[in-house]
Amino acid sequence: MADYTIHTHDYDVVVVGAGGAGLRATLGMAEQGLRTACVTKVFPTRSHTVAAQGGIAASLGNMGPDSWQWHMYDTVKGSDWLGDTDAMEYLAREAPKAVYELEHYGVPFSRTEEGKIYQRPFGGHTTEYGEGPPVQRTCAAADRTGHAILHTLYGQSLKHNAEFFIEYFALDLIITDGKCTGVVTWKLDDGEIHVFNAKMVVLATGGYGRAYFSATSAHTCTGDGGGMVARAGLPLQDMEFVQFHPTGIYGSGCLITEGARGEGGYLTNSDGERFMERYAPTYKDLASRDVVSRCMTMEIREGRGVGPEGDHIFLNLMHLPPETLHERLPGISESAKIFAGVDLTREPIPVLPTVHYNMGGIPTNYWGEVLAPTEDEPDRLFPGLMAVGEAGCASVHGANRLGSNSLIDLVVFGRAAAIRAGEVIDRKSSIPQTNQAAVDAALARFDAIRNADGGTPVAALRDEMQRTMQADAAVFRTDKTLAEGVEKMAQVAAKLDDLHVTDRSLIWNTDLMEALELTNLMPNALATIVAAEARKESRGAHAHEDYPERDDAEWRKHSLAWVEGNTVKLAYRPVHLDPLTPAEAGGIDMKKIAPKARVY
Ligand SMILES: Cc1cc2nc3c(=O)[nH]c(=O)nc-3n(C[C@H](O)[C@H](O)[C@H](O)COP(=O)(O)OP(=O)(O)OC[C@H]3O[C@@H](n4cnc5c(N)ncnc54)[C@H](O)[C@@H]3O)c2cc1C
Repeated sequence: MADYTIHTHDYDVVVVGAGGAGLRATLGMAEQGLRTACVTKVFPTRSHTVAAQGGIAASLGNMGPDSWQWHMYDTVKGSDWLGDTDAMEYLAREAPKAVYELEHYGVPFSRTEEGKIYQRPFGGHTTEYGEGPPVQRTCAAADRTGHAILHTLYGQSLKHNAEFFIEYFALDLIITDGKCTGVVTWKLDDGEIHVFNAKMVVLATGGYGRAYFSATSAHTCTGDGGGMVARAGLPLQDMEFVQFHPTGIYGSGCLITEGARGEGGYLTNSDGERFMERYAPTYKDLASRDVVSRCMTMEIREGRGVGPEGDHIFLNLMHLPPETLHERLPGISESAKIFAGVDLTREPIPVLPTVHYNMGGIPTNYWGEVLAPTEDEPDRLFPGLMAVGEAGCASVHGANRLGSNSLIDLVVFGRAAAIRAGEVIDRKSSIPQTNQAAVDAALARFDAIRNADGGTPVAALRDEMQRTMQADAAVFRTDKTLAEGVEKMAQVAAKLDDLHVTDRSLIWNTDLMEALELTNLMPNALATIVAAEARKESRGAHAHEDYPERDDAEWRKHSLAWVEGNTVKLAYRPVHLDPLTPAEAGGIDMKKIAPKARVY
């Protein structure tokens, strides 16, 4: 093995990731005086959160009546009754607080006439426990909400003396006697290795959208946290649930926010019909995302798609007043022009359901503490490790996430992780010493990948993985496609042993970085397709043609997937059914959130 130059750092907390979740956790830790490092492979404000357009959900009630109970009900229903009740209650209750904090930190929210935070309608968000009209709950900074949040949180973190390690790639966790005690990283610009020892490691590495061919997510969304956790022998949860956004621009995957439909946009088929009225008479184009995506796919499969190949759908915004487009949706006018060559004041935008969000991830409780479930102890904690944001699975999104519920998840659980860390970290204890054996093992793996000289180029194998996932683990799933997909993905994953990395350099070696990312995407993809094949029901984003009904008796449970090499072992853990606060004490009326059919 090559001689690597190694630097060692000691911190109370190391946060891996500087998206909305990582920055909110970093800020919360630093505010309490914990010595906090934030390690990130891209510059903080380039994290995928920057692309979030639509907004962040919280029941502020600025535009009409709203309540945290209604928000919770919508989240429970959106999750198709797979979310953990305690975590969903925590999210809905804490959301307004977390948004007002953002406001005070300086996020430049759009305003109402009276100067309150502007809120827009979003799919699946309703009033009166789904009985009333849609609610305006999604707080927005025009169509650049994620951008505004990231810049504000980064500035605040610097102000509180959090230390940033920018363009450092986290390779592997350091596990010492069943506890996480740090992380090994590779500094991209000089090739040196930095070992971080810490009392608490927080994974905030985002989703794994890039396991698929067409995705709205950044090329950096490669599930590195899930990969590290899988290699540490810990399971991933609910990986079969992958959200497709109804409106990715046809061809590029670039997202047109749901806010476009929130502001009055609607979908049409080749007959010019507003077909969503037929499928979801009440909420129409603002039904939940999986519902709209499935309806679009159905229209296309039944021969009513638009375009020369009849393989996509139109999103119409031509009827909206130019002031609305200009004020509320300036970014998408530009995206439509650049990525579809369309002037949206005159023509419809060609769109297609595109991978958008991973409901599954690293299992945690609602404090962000990572779980290492066993059969007897489904909620057993894994000490020293937390996971927040899209990398984690708390689980509040269950089988399907509602639009604008992710940004709020980032800040509510980033904040919760910091509150919890403040309680569980013993400030007087010393920082764990370097576990040299674990560092050596991480470096041996790194070295082997760097010197991989098989016959399969990184880009070719990634392409094969992405196309397989797109073909066999997409919107429509059958026993046959899933079984084929499982078999194909096992073959694809086996080719990791034959990987070829062309460049041996340690400095700005993008080939090596993409190889490492591929080794992280692969366990995420394997867990996804194997868990999807096993789940014989339809729930949320997992729509199974052979089992069209939800089966609560058999399947209202979280899947757990341990990935070892090319094999996946599955087990299940019960959904948390109990709320945090009983109804008598001001909690939610459990009858309101009892399972029923999910229609919009
Ligand atoms: C186009 C688009 C629009 C969206 N719009 C909305 C919206 O309007 N409302 C909403 O609620 N949700 C929206 N979402 C979803 C939401 O934006 C994401 O779920 C969320 O931003 C994820 O944030 P995160 O902090 O978990 O991760 P990210 O923002 O993806 O950040 C991940 C961080 O981890 C770091 N990282 C990853 N791997 C490593 C490694 N190996 N070493 C070091 N660092 C690493 C990266 O550098 C980065 O800083 C949207 C998503 C997309 C793709």
